[in-house]
Amino acid sequence: MIATIERPLTPRSKPAAKPDRAAELRTTISASRLSVWLQCRLKFYFRYVAQIQRLPTANMHAGSTVHSVLQNWNIGRWRREPFAIERFKTLFVSQWTRLQEGTRINWRKEEASERSSSWRALENYFNQTPIGANEKPQAVEVSVEADLSRHGLPTLVGIIDLVRAGARIVDFKLSGKSPSPGHVIHMHELQLTAYGILYRDATGKKESALELHHLVRTKEPKLIVSSMPPSTENQKIRLFRQIESYQVGLARRDFVPSPGFHCAGCEYFTTCRLWCGKGTHA
Ligand code: SF4
Repeated sequence: MIATIERPLTPRSKPAAKPDRAAELRTTISASRLSVWLQCRLKFYFRYVAQIQRLPTANMHAGSTVHSVLQNWNIGRWRREPFAIERFKTLFVSQWTRLQEGTRINWRKEEASERSSSWRALENYFNQTPIGANEKPQAVEVSVEADLSRHGLPTLVGIIDLVRAGARIVDFKLSGKSPSPGHVIHMHELQLTAYGILYRDATGKKESALELHHLVRTKEPKLIVSSMPPSTENQKIRLFRQIESYQVGLARRDFVPSPGFHCAGCEYFTTCRLWCGKGTHA
């Protein structure tokens, strides 16, 4: 016998209201979300408001794989495990396969060379890294948040790749070309300043430096380490003004395209070409 449960009929009840995604997005902010907003508001709309899923690109896949190996390397030092390059090579190969399960990447017949250049950049990093084999991290892949409501701003959230001994905050980047020495800090200041704020809020202490470790996948792989001193009051104010602009723009649903060189790597290029203002505005 099948038991049935009597439920009141609710033909007149209203369907559940769709949550206002733009309003949700105003409650928190991360450095990566803010960067997309500042780069192109229409791209922001496609990715975070409409949540249009796109298959990962070859670059995204390579970045995720390298990131996961570096995370394991950092955790290994935390546990005081001896370093063995073969172990990380095996991990790299297995993660390369595992992270593309259930998805489809358009390799354009370049998967072998993408994999090889990614591994060579990683191998070069292990040979050249300024992080000593015995240097125990303070934190690895730590998820942090800071309540900025006293500044009239949303909660700042983020995941910090690594906090080295001596409170040096590190972010790893896999890149196809060397960062420009004159512009690298300017390009990443927003993210580094956000990490400084998150670190201070979580620990009550000031970071000693903010570092970018670029693993460059050129024919001859390179490691470029760029360092910024602890973020200043001016940099903090600059970030806060950018977050304010995000808040105001989101409330106005100010989703317009910003064409530029960055469009070459935009996963929404085709959708963008069809856009004529419909759907994005309330
Ligand atoms: S193609 Fe360019 S303008 Fe269009 S959404 Fe992407 S980044 Fe914005």
